[in-house]
Amino acid sequence: MGTGGGRFAIVTQRRRTGGIRIIDGKVNLHLDPGPGALVYSIEQGLDPRKITGVLVSHAHPDHANDSSVLLEAMTGGALKRRGFLACARSVTQGNDSVDAVVSRYHKGLPGNVFELSPGDTVSVGGLEIRAVKAIHYDPDTIGFRLKLPNGETLGYTSDTEFFEGAGKPYRGVDVLILCSMRPRGAPLKWHMSIDDAIKILEEAKPKEAFLTHFGMRMLVETSPENEAKYVEKVTGIPTKAARDNMRVKIERKHGLTEFFQG
Ligand SMILES: [Zn+2]
Ligand SMILES: [Zn+2]
Repeated sequence: MGTGGGRFAIVTQRRRTGGIRIIDGKVNLHLDPGPGALVYSIEQGLDPRKITGVLVSHAHPDHANDSSVLLEAMTGGALKRRGFLACARSVTQGNDSVDAVVSRYHKGLPGNVFELSPGDTVSVGGLEIRAVKAIHYDPDTIGFRLKLPNGETLGYTSDTEFFEGAGKPYRGVDVLILCSMRPRGAPLKWHMSIDDAIKILEEAKPKEAFLTHFGMRMLVETSPENEAKYVEKVTGIPTKAARDNMRVKIERKHGLTEFFQG
């Protein structure tokens, strides 16, 4: 429901910022609900009341803005205590750099709340969630490694700069989604450039990779498709640039099928 990242992509909606919906049987997750998650979800015909879990990697608006309204949707308008919230501690507790973005009231809505630090693993409804270390200016930021009920594995880096070992927790996943905000040659502290993404991929060696969370420099000075081609050439890992409203089907035996709607 969106491939934009950072302040300028948000305020212009040059790329949408609604996050990612992950559906596998009864598991229906919304990952990083930035601004637009609720509205784009309805627009795309994906009823937010069917969500069974909300995952939030950190407390910045492009990842967390619509968390509370999705928690209300997931709980049938705050009437049924169901589903879960799995998030970085900053999302519910705040820290020295950010305030909590999910209020005490909203934290009380889902059936379970998992406040995760790197290395923590939880199993819920056939789904396994592992929190992965990230280095970002919300110091509690985590990435996610997910094992879906059908066995597919999925990694999501969230915002992070490269550090030694950044890719290791994602080793061998079927799909790794990288929040690669910046193009080649445009590093930014606490964020991922394409050069960082390559280093992460070389450690992680996923079967396939998707680039997303594009900032303005990525969109204006080059194109995500260009950068994805370059990443694939350097790493040998099949890599695609995500597009808004893109739908991807993961099949372990047959690889990825991409299909679009709207
Ligand atoms: Zn971000
Ligand atoms: Zn951030």
